[in-house]
Amino acid sequence: MSKGTINVSVDNIFPLIKKFLYSDHEIFLRELISNATDATLKMKHLANIGEAEGVEYGNPMIEVKLDKKKKELRIIDQGIGMTKDEVEKYINEIAFSGAEEFIEKYKDKNGKDAGIIGHFGLGFYSAFMVAEKVEIITKSYKDEPAVHWTCDGSPEFTLEKADKKERGTEIILHIAEDSTEFLEESRIRELLVKYNKFMPIPIKFGTRTETLPKPEGAKEEDKAPTQEVDNIINNPNPAWTKQPTELEDKDYNSFYRELYPMQFEEPLFHIHLNVDYPFNLTGILYFPKMTNDMSIQKDKIQLYQNQVFVTDNVEGIVPEFLTMLRGVIDSPDIPLNVSRSYLQADGAVKKISSYITRKVADKLKSLFNSDREGFEKKWNDIKIVIEYGMLTEDKFFEKAQDFALYPTVDNTFYTFSELKEKIKDIQTDKDGNTVILYASNKEEQHSYIEAAKEKGYEVLLLDSPIVTHLLQKVEGSEEKISFLRVDSDHVENLIKKDDAQISKLSDEEKETLKTFLDGVIPKEKFSVQLEALDSNANPFIITEPEFMRRMKDMQKTGGGGMFGMGGFPEMYNLIVNTNHELVSEILNTKTEKKKERLVNQALDLARLSKNLLKGEELTAFIKRSYEMIK
Ligand code: ADP
Repeated sequence: MSKGTINVSVDNIFPLIKKFLYSDHEIFLRELISNATDATLKMKHLANIGEAEGVEYGNPMIEVKLDKKKKELRIIDQGIGMTKDEVEKYINEIAFSGAEEFIEKYKDKNGKDAGIIGHFGLGFYSAFMVAEKVEIITKSYKDEPAVHWTCDGSPEFTLEKADKKERGTEIILHIAEDSTEFLEESRIRELLVKYNKFMPIPIKFGTRTETLPKPEGAKEEDKAPTQEVDNIINNPNPAWTKQPTELEDKDYNSFYRELYPMQFEEPLFHIHLNVDYPFNLTGILYFPKMTNDMSIQKDKIQLYQNQVFVTDNVEGIVPEFLTMLRGVIDSPDIPLNVSRSYLQADGAVKKISSYITRKVADKLKSLFNSDREGFEKKWNDIKIVIEYGMLTEDKFFEKAQDFALYPTVDNTFYTFSELKEKIKDIQTDKDGNTVILYASNKEEQHSYIEAAKEKGYEVLLLDSPIVTHLLQKVEGSEEKISFLRVDSDHVENLIKKDDAQISKLSDEEKETLKTFLDGVIPKEKFSVQLEALDSNANPFIITEPEFMRRMKDMQKTGGGGMFGMGGFPEMYNLIVNTNHELVSEILNTKTEKKKERLVNQALDLARLSKNLLKGEELTAFIKRSYEMIK
């Protein structure tokens, strides 16, 4: 037996390991299983290239064993193992300096970036976060005796011969008093599922009982026979490691369920990512059914590195609009021991992000081209991602011209160029601007929609929360195009053509009417405007100018904060149609009281059609209406 001291500059690194990595103790298991996996894959490689003479690779697995009584957790592999010299080199020198360097880096950071820094880099020594003593019993594939290394967390270790016969490494953790949670089967199972669910070597954790088919001739009441089998916790060949040609839709769907066992809804479609130049990346992204509710979702895209789970925080790696998708991304080229801001500036990561954007756009385009009807059906479930992408990524905005849809209130779907072509004759105003009309709510804007349709206009239904922002962007990228919500003005004024209507009222009458209305209608809520409209148009019409409403919308969804924290006043235009009979009647009514009542009634009807009449005012309206008909 030999004794030694680990060469250290810091007196004792282990208390430091504990202290600095407090929040992330659980990663020790992932680190040890990653080492076991590497050692096994190295063995496979050596066997493949004929380097390891007389060595059977077989069907190796990794075993995790728990002995609660002895307070031991073991990780056993059948990999290449280590010779005595290798233990001295890799464990005493290299692994240690890795751990030391890691701690040095970690000390300089203040919690903020800890999440990702906690991932990777500590390796074998992370065992000391949870163990008071660690043993390694290892036998190399080379013809050398097995060795037994023991270290109790001080810089001293012992190294002696062992009589292990089979190739591979066994790590024994003597779990510390403050870490007994890692002696619980359920906790270990949870960690294995979280980090190792798709690792490439089978991982055994205990056994499970399997029911066998009943033998022929068995009676109804006979119990089916059972047998104990290895409980393998991982799927070593997850779908994303296969070629798209090997997979069918049902394979993608069942992998989705494997990823998110609590998701019962099928994904709408998937995108298989697969590149090896200029960076390595594989993965599968799924478009789930999406609602307008963009609140935080728990089933997120998972990031893997060579099938080891790293994080489900892909911010900075995947463009923001795609973080609403689900699935996996696996790339060894994403640097993980760095801060988020560094990550976002990293050249390789930028390329990855734009590759993903391009793939998503290409897939959407091919879905649109191959099955337009199906694509239209899915539009409402996917539009939020597409619209958000168009708004935030210029490249995606350009590509989306081919497949972004603009649905009408009657469920006709146009691409932007189809829409322009369709409306250019009727909906171009006297200045040559093409006006695109839209509604945001079919029920609330019903009367305005009907009026516009009557004139032969197309009315879009654009109801995503971010649509106002997107319209601004489309307007900015197109010549002579503007969007107007149908209720932003009276239909006659939405798209101004030359033929102005002649007013039935003289200037003098208009003056009298205006003075009277200003006296009755609350100034702080409505700005009264007399207009000579079609005599069939409503007498009183409430509109909200497009600009005001957009500012309000944008303030609600963030951005456009020109007006500061104060919010916007509730201010509307009240358009009074001077050509309507009722308006003449108001003007000609002799008693002030009757006149006032007509004005209030007409105003309330206008409010009602815009969903603005509520509470006390609604009660008063109903009362007044009954009096008028009795
Ligand atoms: P890293 O894995 O990042 O190299 P570690 O501290 O985890 O750092 O391990 C140091 C070295 O010890 C490894 O590179 C490997 O050579 C050796 N090693 C660790 N675990 C095993 C194992 N289970 N089997 C064989 N060698 C191992």
